Order: sequence, then structure tokens, then C-alpha cells
Amino acid sequence: EADRSDTFTRFDGTPMPVEYSTALILESEQIDGIVVVFRDITVRQELAKMKDEFISTVSHELRTPLTSIRGSLGLLSNGVFGTLQPKGQHMLEVAVKNTDRLVRLINDILDIERLQSGKVVLEKKPVSARQLAQGAVEGLQGVADKQKVKLACDACDETFIVDPDRITQVLTNLIGNAIKFSKAEGEVKVRVERQDDDIRFSVSDTGRGIPPEKVDLIFGRFQQVDASDSREKGGTGLGLAISKAIVEQHGGRIWVESRLGEGSTFSFLVPLGTQRGPYVLVVGETDDRREEVARLVGRRGARVRFAEVGVNLDGLQPAPSMILVNLAASPPLEWVEAVRHQNAQVVCYQGPDALGHELFAALEAAGRERASRFRVLVVEDDADLAEVLVAIFERHNTEALSVGTVEDAIEAADGFQPDLLMLDLGLPGGSGFDVVEVLRHRPQQAHIPVLIYTAREVGPEDLDRLRLGETRAFVKTRVTAQVFEEAVVTWLEKLAAAPVPQ
Ligand code: ADP
Repeated sequence: EADRSDTFTRFDGTPMPVEYSTALILESEQIDGIVVVFRDITVRQELAKMKDEFISTVSHELRTPLTSIRGSLGLLSNGVFGTLQPKGQHMLEVAVKNTDRLVRLINDILDIERLQSGKVVLEKKPVSARQLAQGAVEGLQGVADKQKVKLACDACDETFIVDPDRITQVLTNLIGNAIKFSKAEGEVKVRVERQDDDIRFSVSDTGRGIPPEKVDLIFGRFQQVDASDSREKGGTGLGLAISKAIVEQHGGRIWVESRLGEGSTFSFLVPLGTQRGPYVLVVGETDDRREEVARLVGRRGARVRFAEVGVNLDGLQPAPSMILVNLAASPPLEWVEAVRHQNAQVVCYQGPDALGHELFAALEAAGRERASRFRVLVVEDDADLAEVLVAIFERHNTEALSVGTVEDAIEAADGFQPDLLMLDLGLPGGSGFDVVEVLRHRPQQAHIPVLIYTAREVGPEDLDRLRLGETRAFVKTRVTAQVFEEAVVTWLEKLAAAPVPQ
């Protein structure tokens, strides 16, 4: 009989986790009795929790130095500071490759810890299942070509409500494994189909297959069919455990069917997710524009309703959580006042083309026509990382100043007049939150865009507390220096192109 667990209550009222197993006592086919063994697993659970916390702390602490190592190596190997001899270049590439592997491992460890302890908040929105699958396939086409594996995708087009990045992560992992464990000339097929109220994804390969006794095990942490798999194939043994946690958090399930030597099919089901997004009321939009506006707003998962200027807001059922008012419809002032007293977020916009801009990009506050270079204030207490970041910005003709404490940041924000604030959260003498708190009350900086670059995950609430102008968060090492650099550069370009605020 397998072990089971339960929670008992001690005499003093405190809970005690127990595990128990049972065995029947058989006397010539007759049940004579039963033995039940209870084990108090309080200490074991505490130890497991301590271990997980320890791993998580260590991994966080590793992020910052690792990010500066990866950044420096990247700059060196891109030849930013001169070229090396071929042997030296090769050594650098080995270092880059292994740093990337270490980064992957640390991200995976932190990911699984957060997923399994329920700390991950899914950012669900309606997306096309086909686009998700095709995106994941395209992302791995290069890897497949290298291994001479054919990749095919056969997907229905259904919209479902999921966290697209997380589902892409699952697909990428399954397709990546399928390619990895295929022989050359093999074929990997991705299928997406609707199955009742679920979407079913399956990834099949014609590779080495999985022995039946391992089929359930491989979804556990660090479980591999062959101990050499991680070394030879470059995996961490965490991919399937992460995938399982993500699928289960979506209310779905994942499994594999496999024949040794013939291939495997990994499948997972995710519910369509019929819960709807917020309800948005659009007021004063002309008939010919409604379709486009509905599409624009609806793409974000919201339900849209239209109304004329002057509509009685108190009679609306259900109450909208957001009201968009087209100022071109000349709403009377007292009505606008009434709108502002609604318990809803209110956005006023002007002119037919402004909606997307007003709604989705709070950029113009920072956009200024300027002849001078952009200025970035880097608030980072790790001097090495700060140096790397400044070097990255300077490569893109952007002036960067780095400071390492809350006080210096507050002072430099005034003196340096940055166009963008790049903020680490953990700082000596306080945190990034303290910096934002002060800048929020200064008209000069209250709307400056903020880029959070930190070792910790930033939740939606934290992000709100950190918001000045448009605010984004990147987790150190989750984004590679290159991706980060690209994101920052595109953002800077966008800021430069934004119109001058009236
Ligand atoms: P990783 O691939 O990083 O080692 P995973 O958790 O993704 O970790 O996979 C765990 C193990 O399951 C792999 O090491 C491999 O032994 C086995 N496995 C996964 N996918 C396949 C597949 N498509 N074919 C054969 N074995 C697989």
C-alpha cells in the first residue's frame, strides 16, 4: 500500500503533518488484522522548506554577479574592446556558452521553486492557439535544421485564454526535447486541436522513446532517463517539471505515450478559459470607427460596449471598469465630471488615431524633440554590473550615469535630468521603491519612464508602486544581455520618436 498523508491535530491544538502506510495481516486468505504506521513528518517538511528557501536565496544572490559576468563576456566576445587571437576568441566563446548554461540552470531552479510554491501569477489573455504553436515552432526551426530534423505544425485556429509566454515555454520545452532526442532525418510533429472545452497540444517524435518505468518519473525535478542526458544534450532535467507545473496551474494536465526505440508523444490539455476580461465602455466614438476600436480594445481581452456622450452612467449594468471618452465628440463638462466620479479608470483621448496611442503607450510624457543625446540614470549598487550597463548604453550613443545608493539617485535625478531611469530594487540604505516615492512628487520626474532591472521577480502590485511614466521590469539573467540591450534600444528609439506633449 502506498504512503498517504494527512494532518492531525496535537493536544495543544497545533497541526501535525503525518504520513501513513497500511498493511493487511493475512492468515490463510483470511484478513486477521491491519497494521497502520504513522510517521510525524513535521521535521522533514521543515527541512524541505529550508532547503528550498536556501536554494532560492543562493540562486538570487548568484543572479547579479552572473549578469555582470555574462554582460562583460558579451561585450568582449563581440569585439567591442578590440579583437582577440582565434584561440582567445574560442576561449571566450566557451566561457559565454557555459555562463549561458549556468544562467539557464539558475533560472530553471528559481522558476520551478516559484511555480511549485504558487508564487507565479499567470498573465492570461485571449490568444490564438495556432499562433502560439507556430511561434514556438518558428523559434526552434534553427535548432531543428542544425540537427537535420523536420518540423511540422498542424494547428486549428481557436482562441483561448492563457498566459501566452508560459504556454510558449511549455511548447518550446517539448519541441526542444523532441528535436534533442530525435535521430537525424527524424520528424517532429506539433498538433493543436480542440477537444471539448480544452485545447489539446501534442508533440510527437520518432526518436529513442522512453522506457515504460520512466514515463511518470521524468516529470519530476532533475529526473532524466539517462544520467548522461544533461551533459550530452545540454538540459537541466527541470524542463518537464516546469512544464507540468505550468500546465497544472492553467487547470490542465500533461502526459506522455512512448514506445522504446520508436518515438514519443507528449500531450497536454489546457481549458479554453471562458472567463472574460474587464468591461470597457467607449463613449462618443463614431459608427464607422467602432469596429476598429472594438478590435483594438478586445485584443487585450476586454469586453467592449459603446455609448453616446451624455449616457446615464449610474444605470449601467454591469458597471464598467474602464471608460474611454472620445474628446472629439465634445462631451459637456459637467458630464465629464460625472464620469470622473465613477469607480472606473477613465481615459480621455482625442481624434481617431489617438486611441491606441493614448491607451497603450504612456510614452509621450517623456518624448521630447531633442537634439541632444538621451540620458539614462543607472541606479545599481553592484559596481561591476553598473559598469557593464553604462558601457552598453554608451555603445548606443546614450549618455549614462551610474549611482549606487538611494540618496545619490534622488540627487542625480535632479542634477542629471535623465530621460530614463534604470532601477535596481535592492540598494544600500533603502530600495528602489524609496527612490520612486520621492521622484513621484517632483513634477520634473513624475512621468519619467522607468526600467526595473532586478534579481527579484516583480509582481503587478510592485510594478504599480514603481510606476512613474511607462514602467517595465526585467529580471536579471532571465533576459540575456543581448535581448535586454535590444529591448532598451527599441524603447529609446520609440521615446525619441514620440510627439512633443502639449
Ligand atoms: P532535460 O531535457 O533538460 O534533461 P526535461 O525535464 O525536459 O529535462 O526532460 C527530462 C528527461 O526526459 C530527459 O533528460 C530525457 O531523458 C527524457 N525525455 C524528455 N523528452 C524526451 C523525448 N522526446 N524523447 C526521449 N526522452 C525524452
